[in-house]
Amino acid sequence: MKSQIKARKKKIKEGLKEEFSRIREKLGSPPVLLSYMVGEDPSSEVYRQSIRKKGEALGIKVVFREGSEEGILEANQDPSVHGIIVHCPREDFLRYSSLISPQKDVEGIAPTNLGKLMRGERGPVPATALSVMELLRLLNFPLEGREAVIVGRSLIVGKPLFFLLLRENATVTVAHSRTKPLQKFTSKADLLVVAVGKAHLIKPSMVKEGALVVDVGINVVDGKILGDVDPRVGEKATLTPVPGGVGAFTPYMLFRNFALILREKIEGKTPYSPD
Ligand code: NAP
Repeated sequence: MKSQIKARKKKIKEGLKEEFSRIREKLGSPPVLLSYMVGEDPSSEVYRQSIRKKGEALGIKVVFREGSEEGILEANQDPSVHGIIVHCPREDFLRYSSLISPQKDVEGIAPTNLGKLMRGERGPVPATALSVMELLRLLNFPLEGREAVIVGRSLIVGKPLFFLLLRENATVTVAHSRTKPLQKFTSKADLLVVAVGKAHLIKPSMVKEGALVVDVGINVVDGKILGDVDPRVGEKATLTPVPGGVGAFTPYMLFRNFALILREKIEGKTPYSPD
């Protein structure tokens, strides 16, 4: 599966490169993505650098800035900034994400954009959830009428994914830290998506034979990257790899959101745009 994912990633990159070249031509200059840091969050630094490197390879100008929350409001008004990513300590996420202009929200986390997702309207969607959907398309997994279980209900993975899977006519259950017993739900899933952040939480006994298990988790244990799913699950179900699974697509889904935002700006789309 890894080579299949790699090939798809290459295709997505090529498509985005072409799209951003068209966008650049229409704008007359490279689109500018602002990576804005509010407060101290050293864990964001690697992510920021990686977004800059990947973005610049697509012809996007990624600008770093640090400051207070006023800087987000200024960037919203600044016509030279086309998209904004805010990095901040976890506990401030809700507060700062609500300040981002929905028209510049490449992460799809502004309240209006999350509302659009719920309403089934076109708009940016949290990249990890989009990445899971891309993986399902790649694996030709039919969703209609299937039983899908998501473990994890964060605003950036579990919740947006719930709406995306529902849109494809799956029957969706969302489990979380208070779900008891977790196994009762995971073991009935045709599709199990795990986004928890606990290494090898899901054991073979918790999974249905022949299911598709999508492991979103990234856990660094003794310098190694481990998923949320015990690799032995791969003996009874199809298990997506970590690393090189969902994470391979995530940054490019962010750039796909950026392209959507820029297209809407260039084409002067109205706020209501059914999908
Ligand atoms: P998060 O905000 O910490 O949310 C974790 C979720 O897991 C919460 O809903 C929590 O439940 C639930 N949970 C915790 N312990 C549980 C347990 N024992 N049983 C069942 N549910 C439990 O995490 P996140 O930001 O969504 O990220 C989740 C994982 O995905 C992390 O490993 C992260 O690194 C990874 N990730 C990967 C990508 C990628 O591209 N591959 C992107 C983003 C994140 P409560 O709500 O009840 O607390």
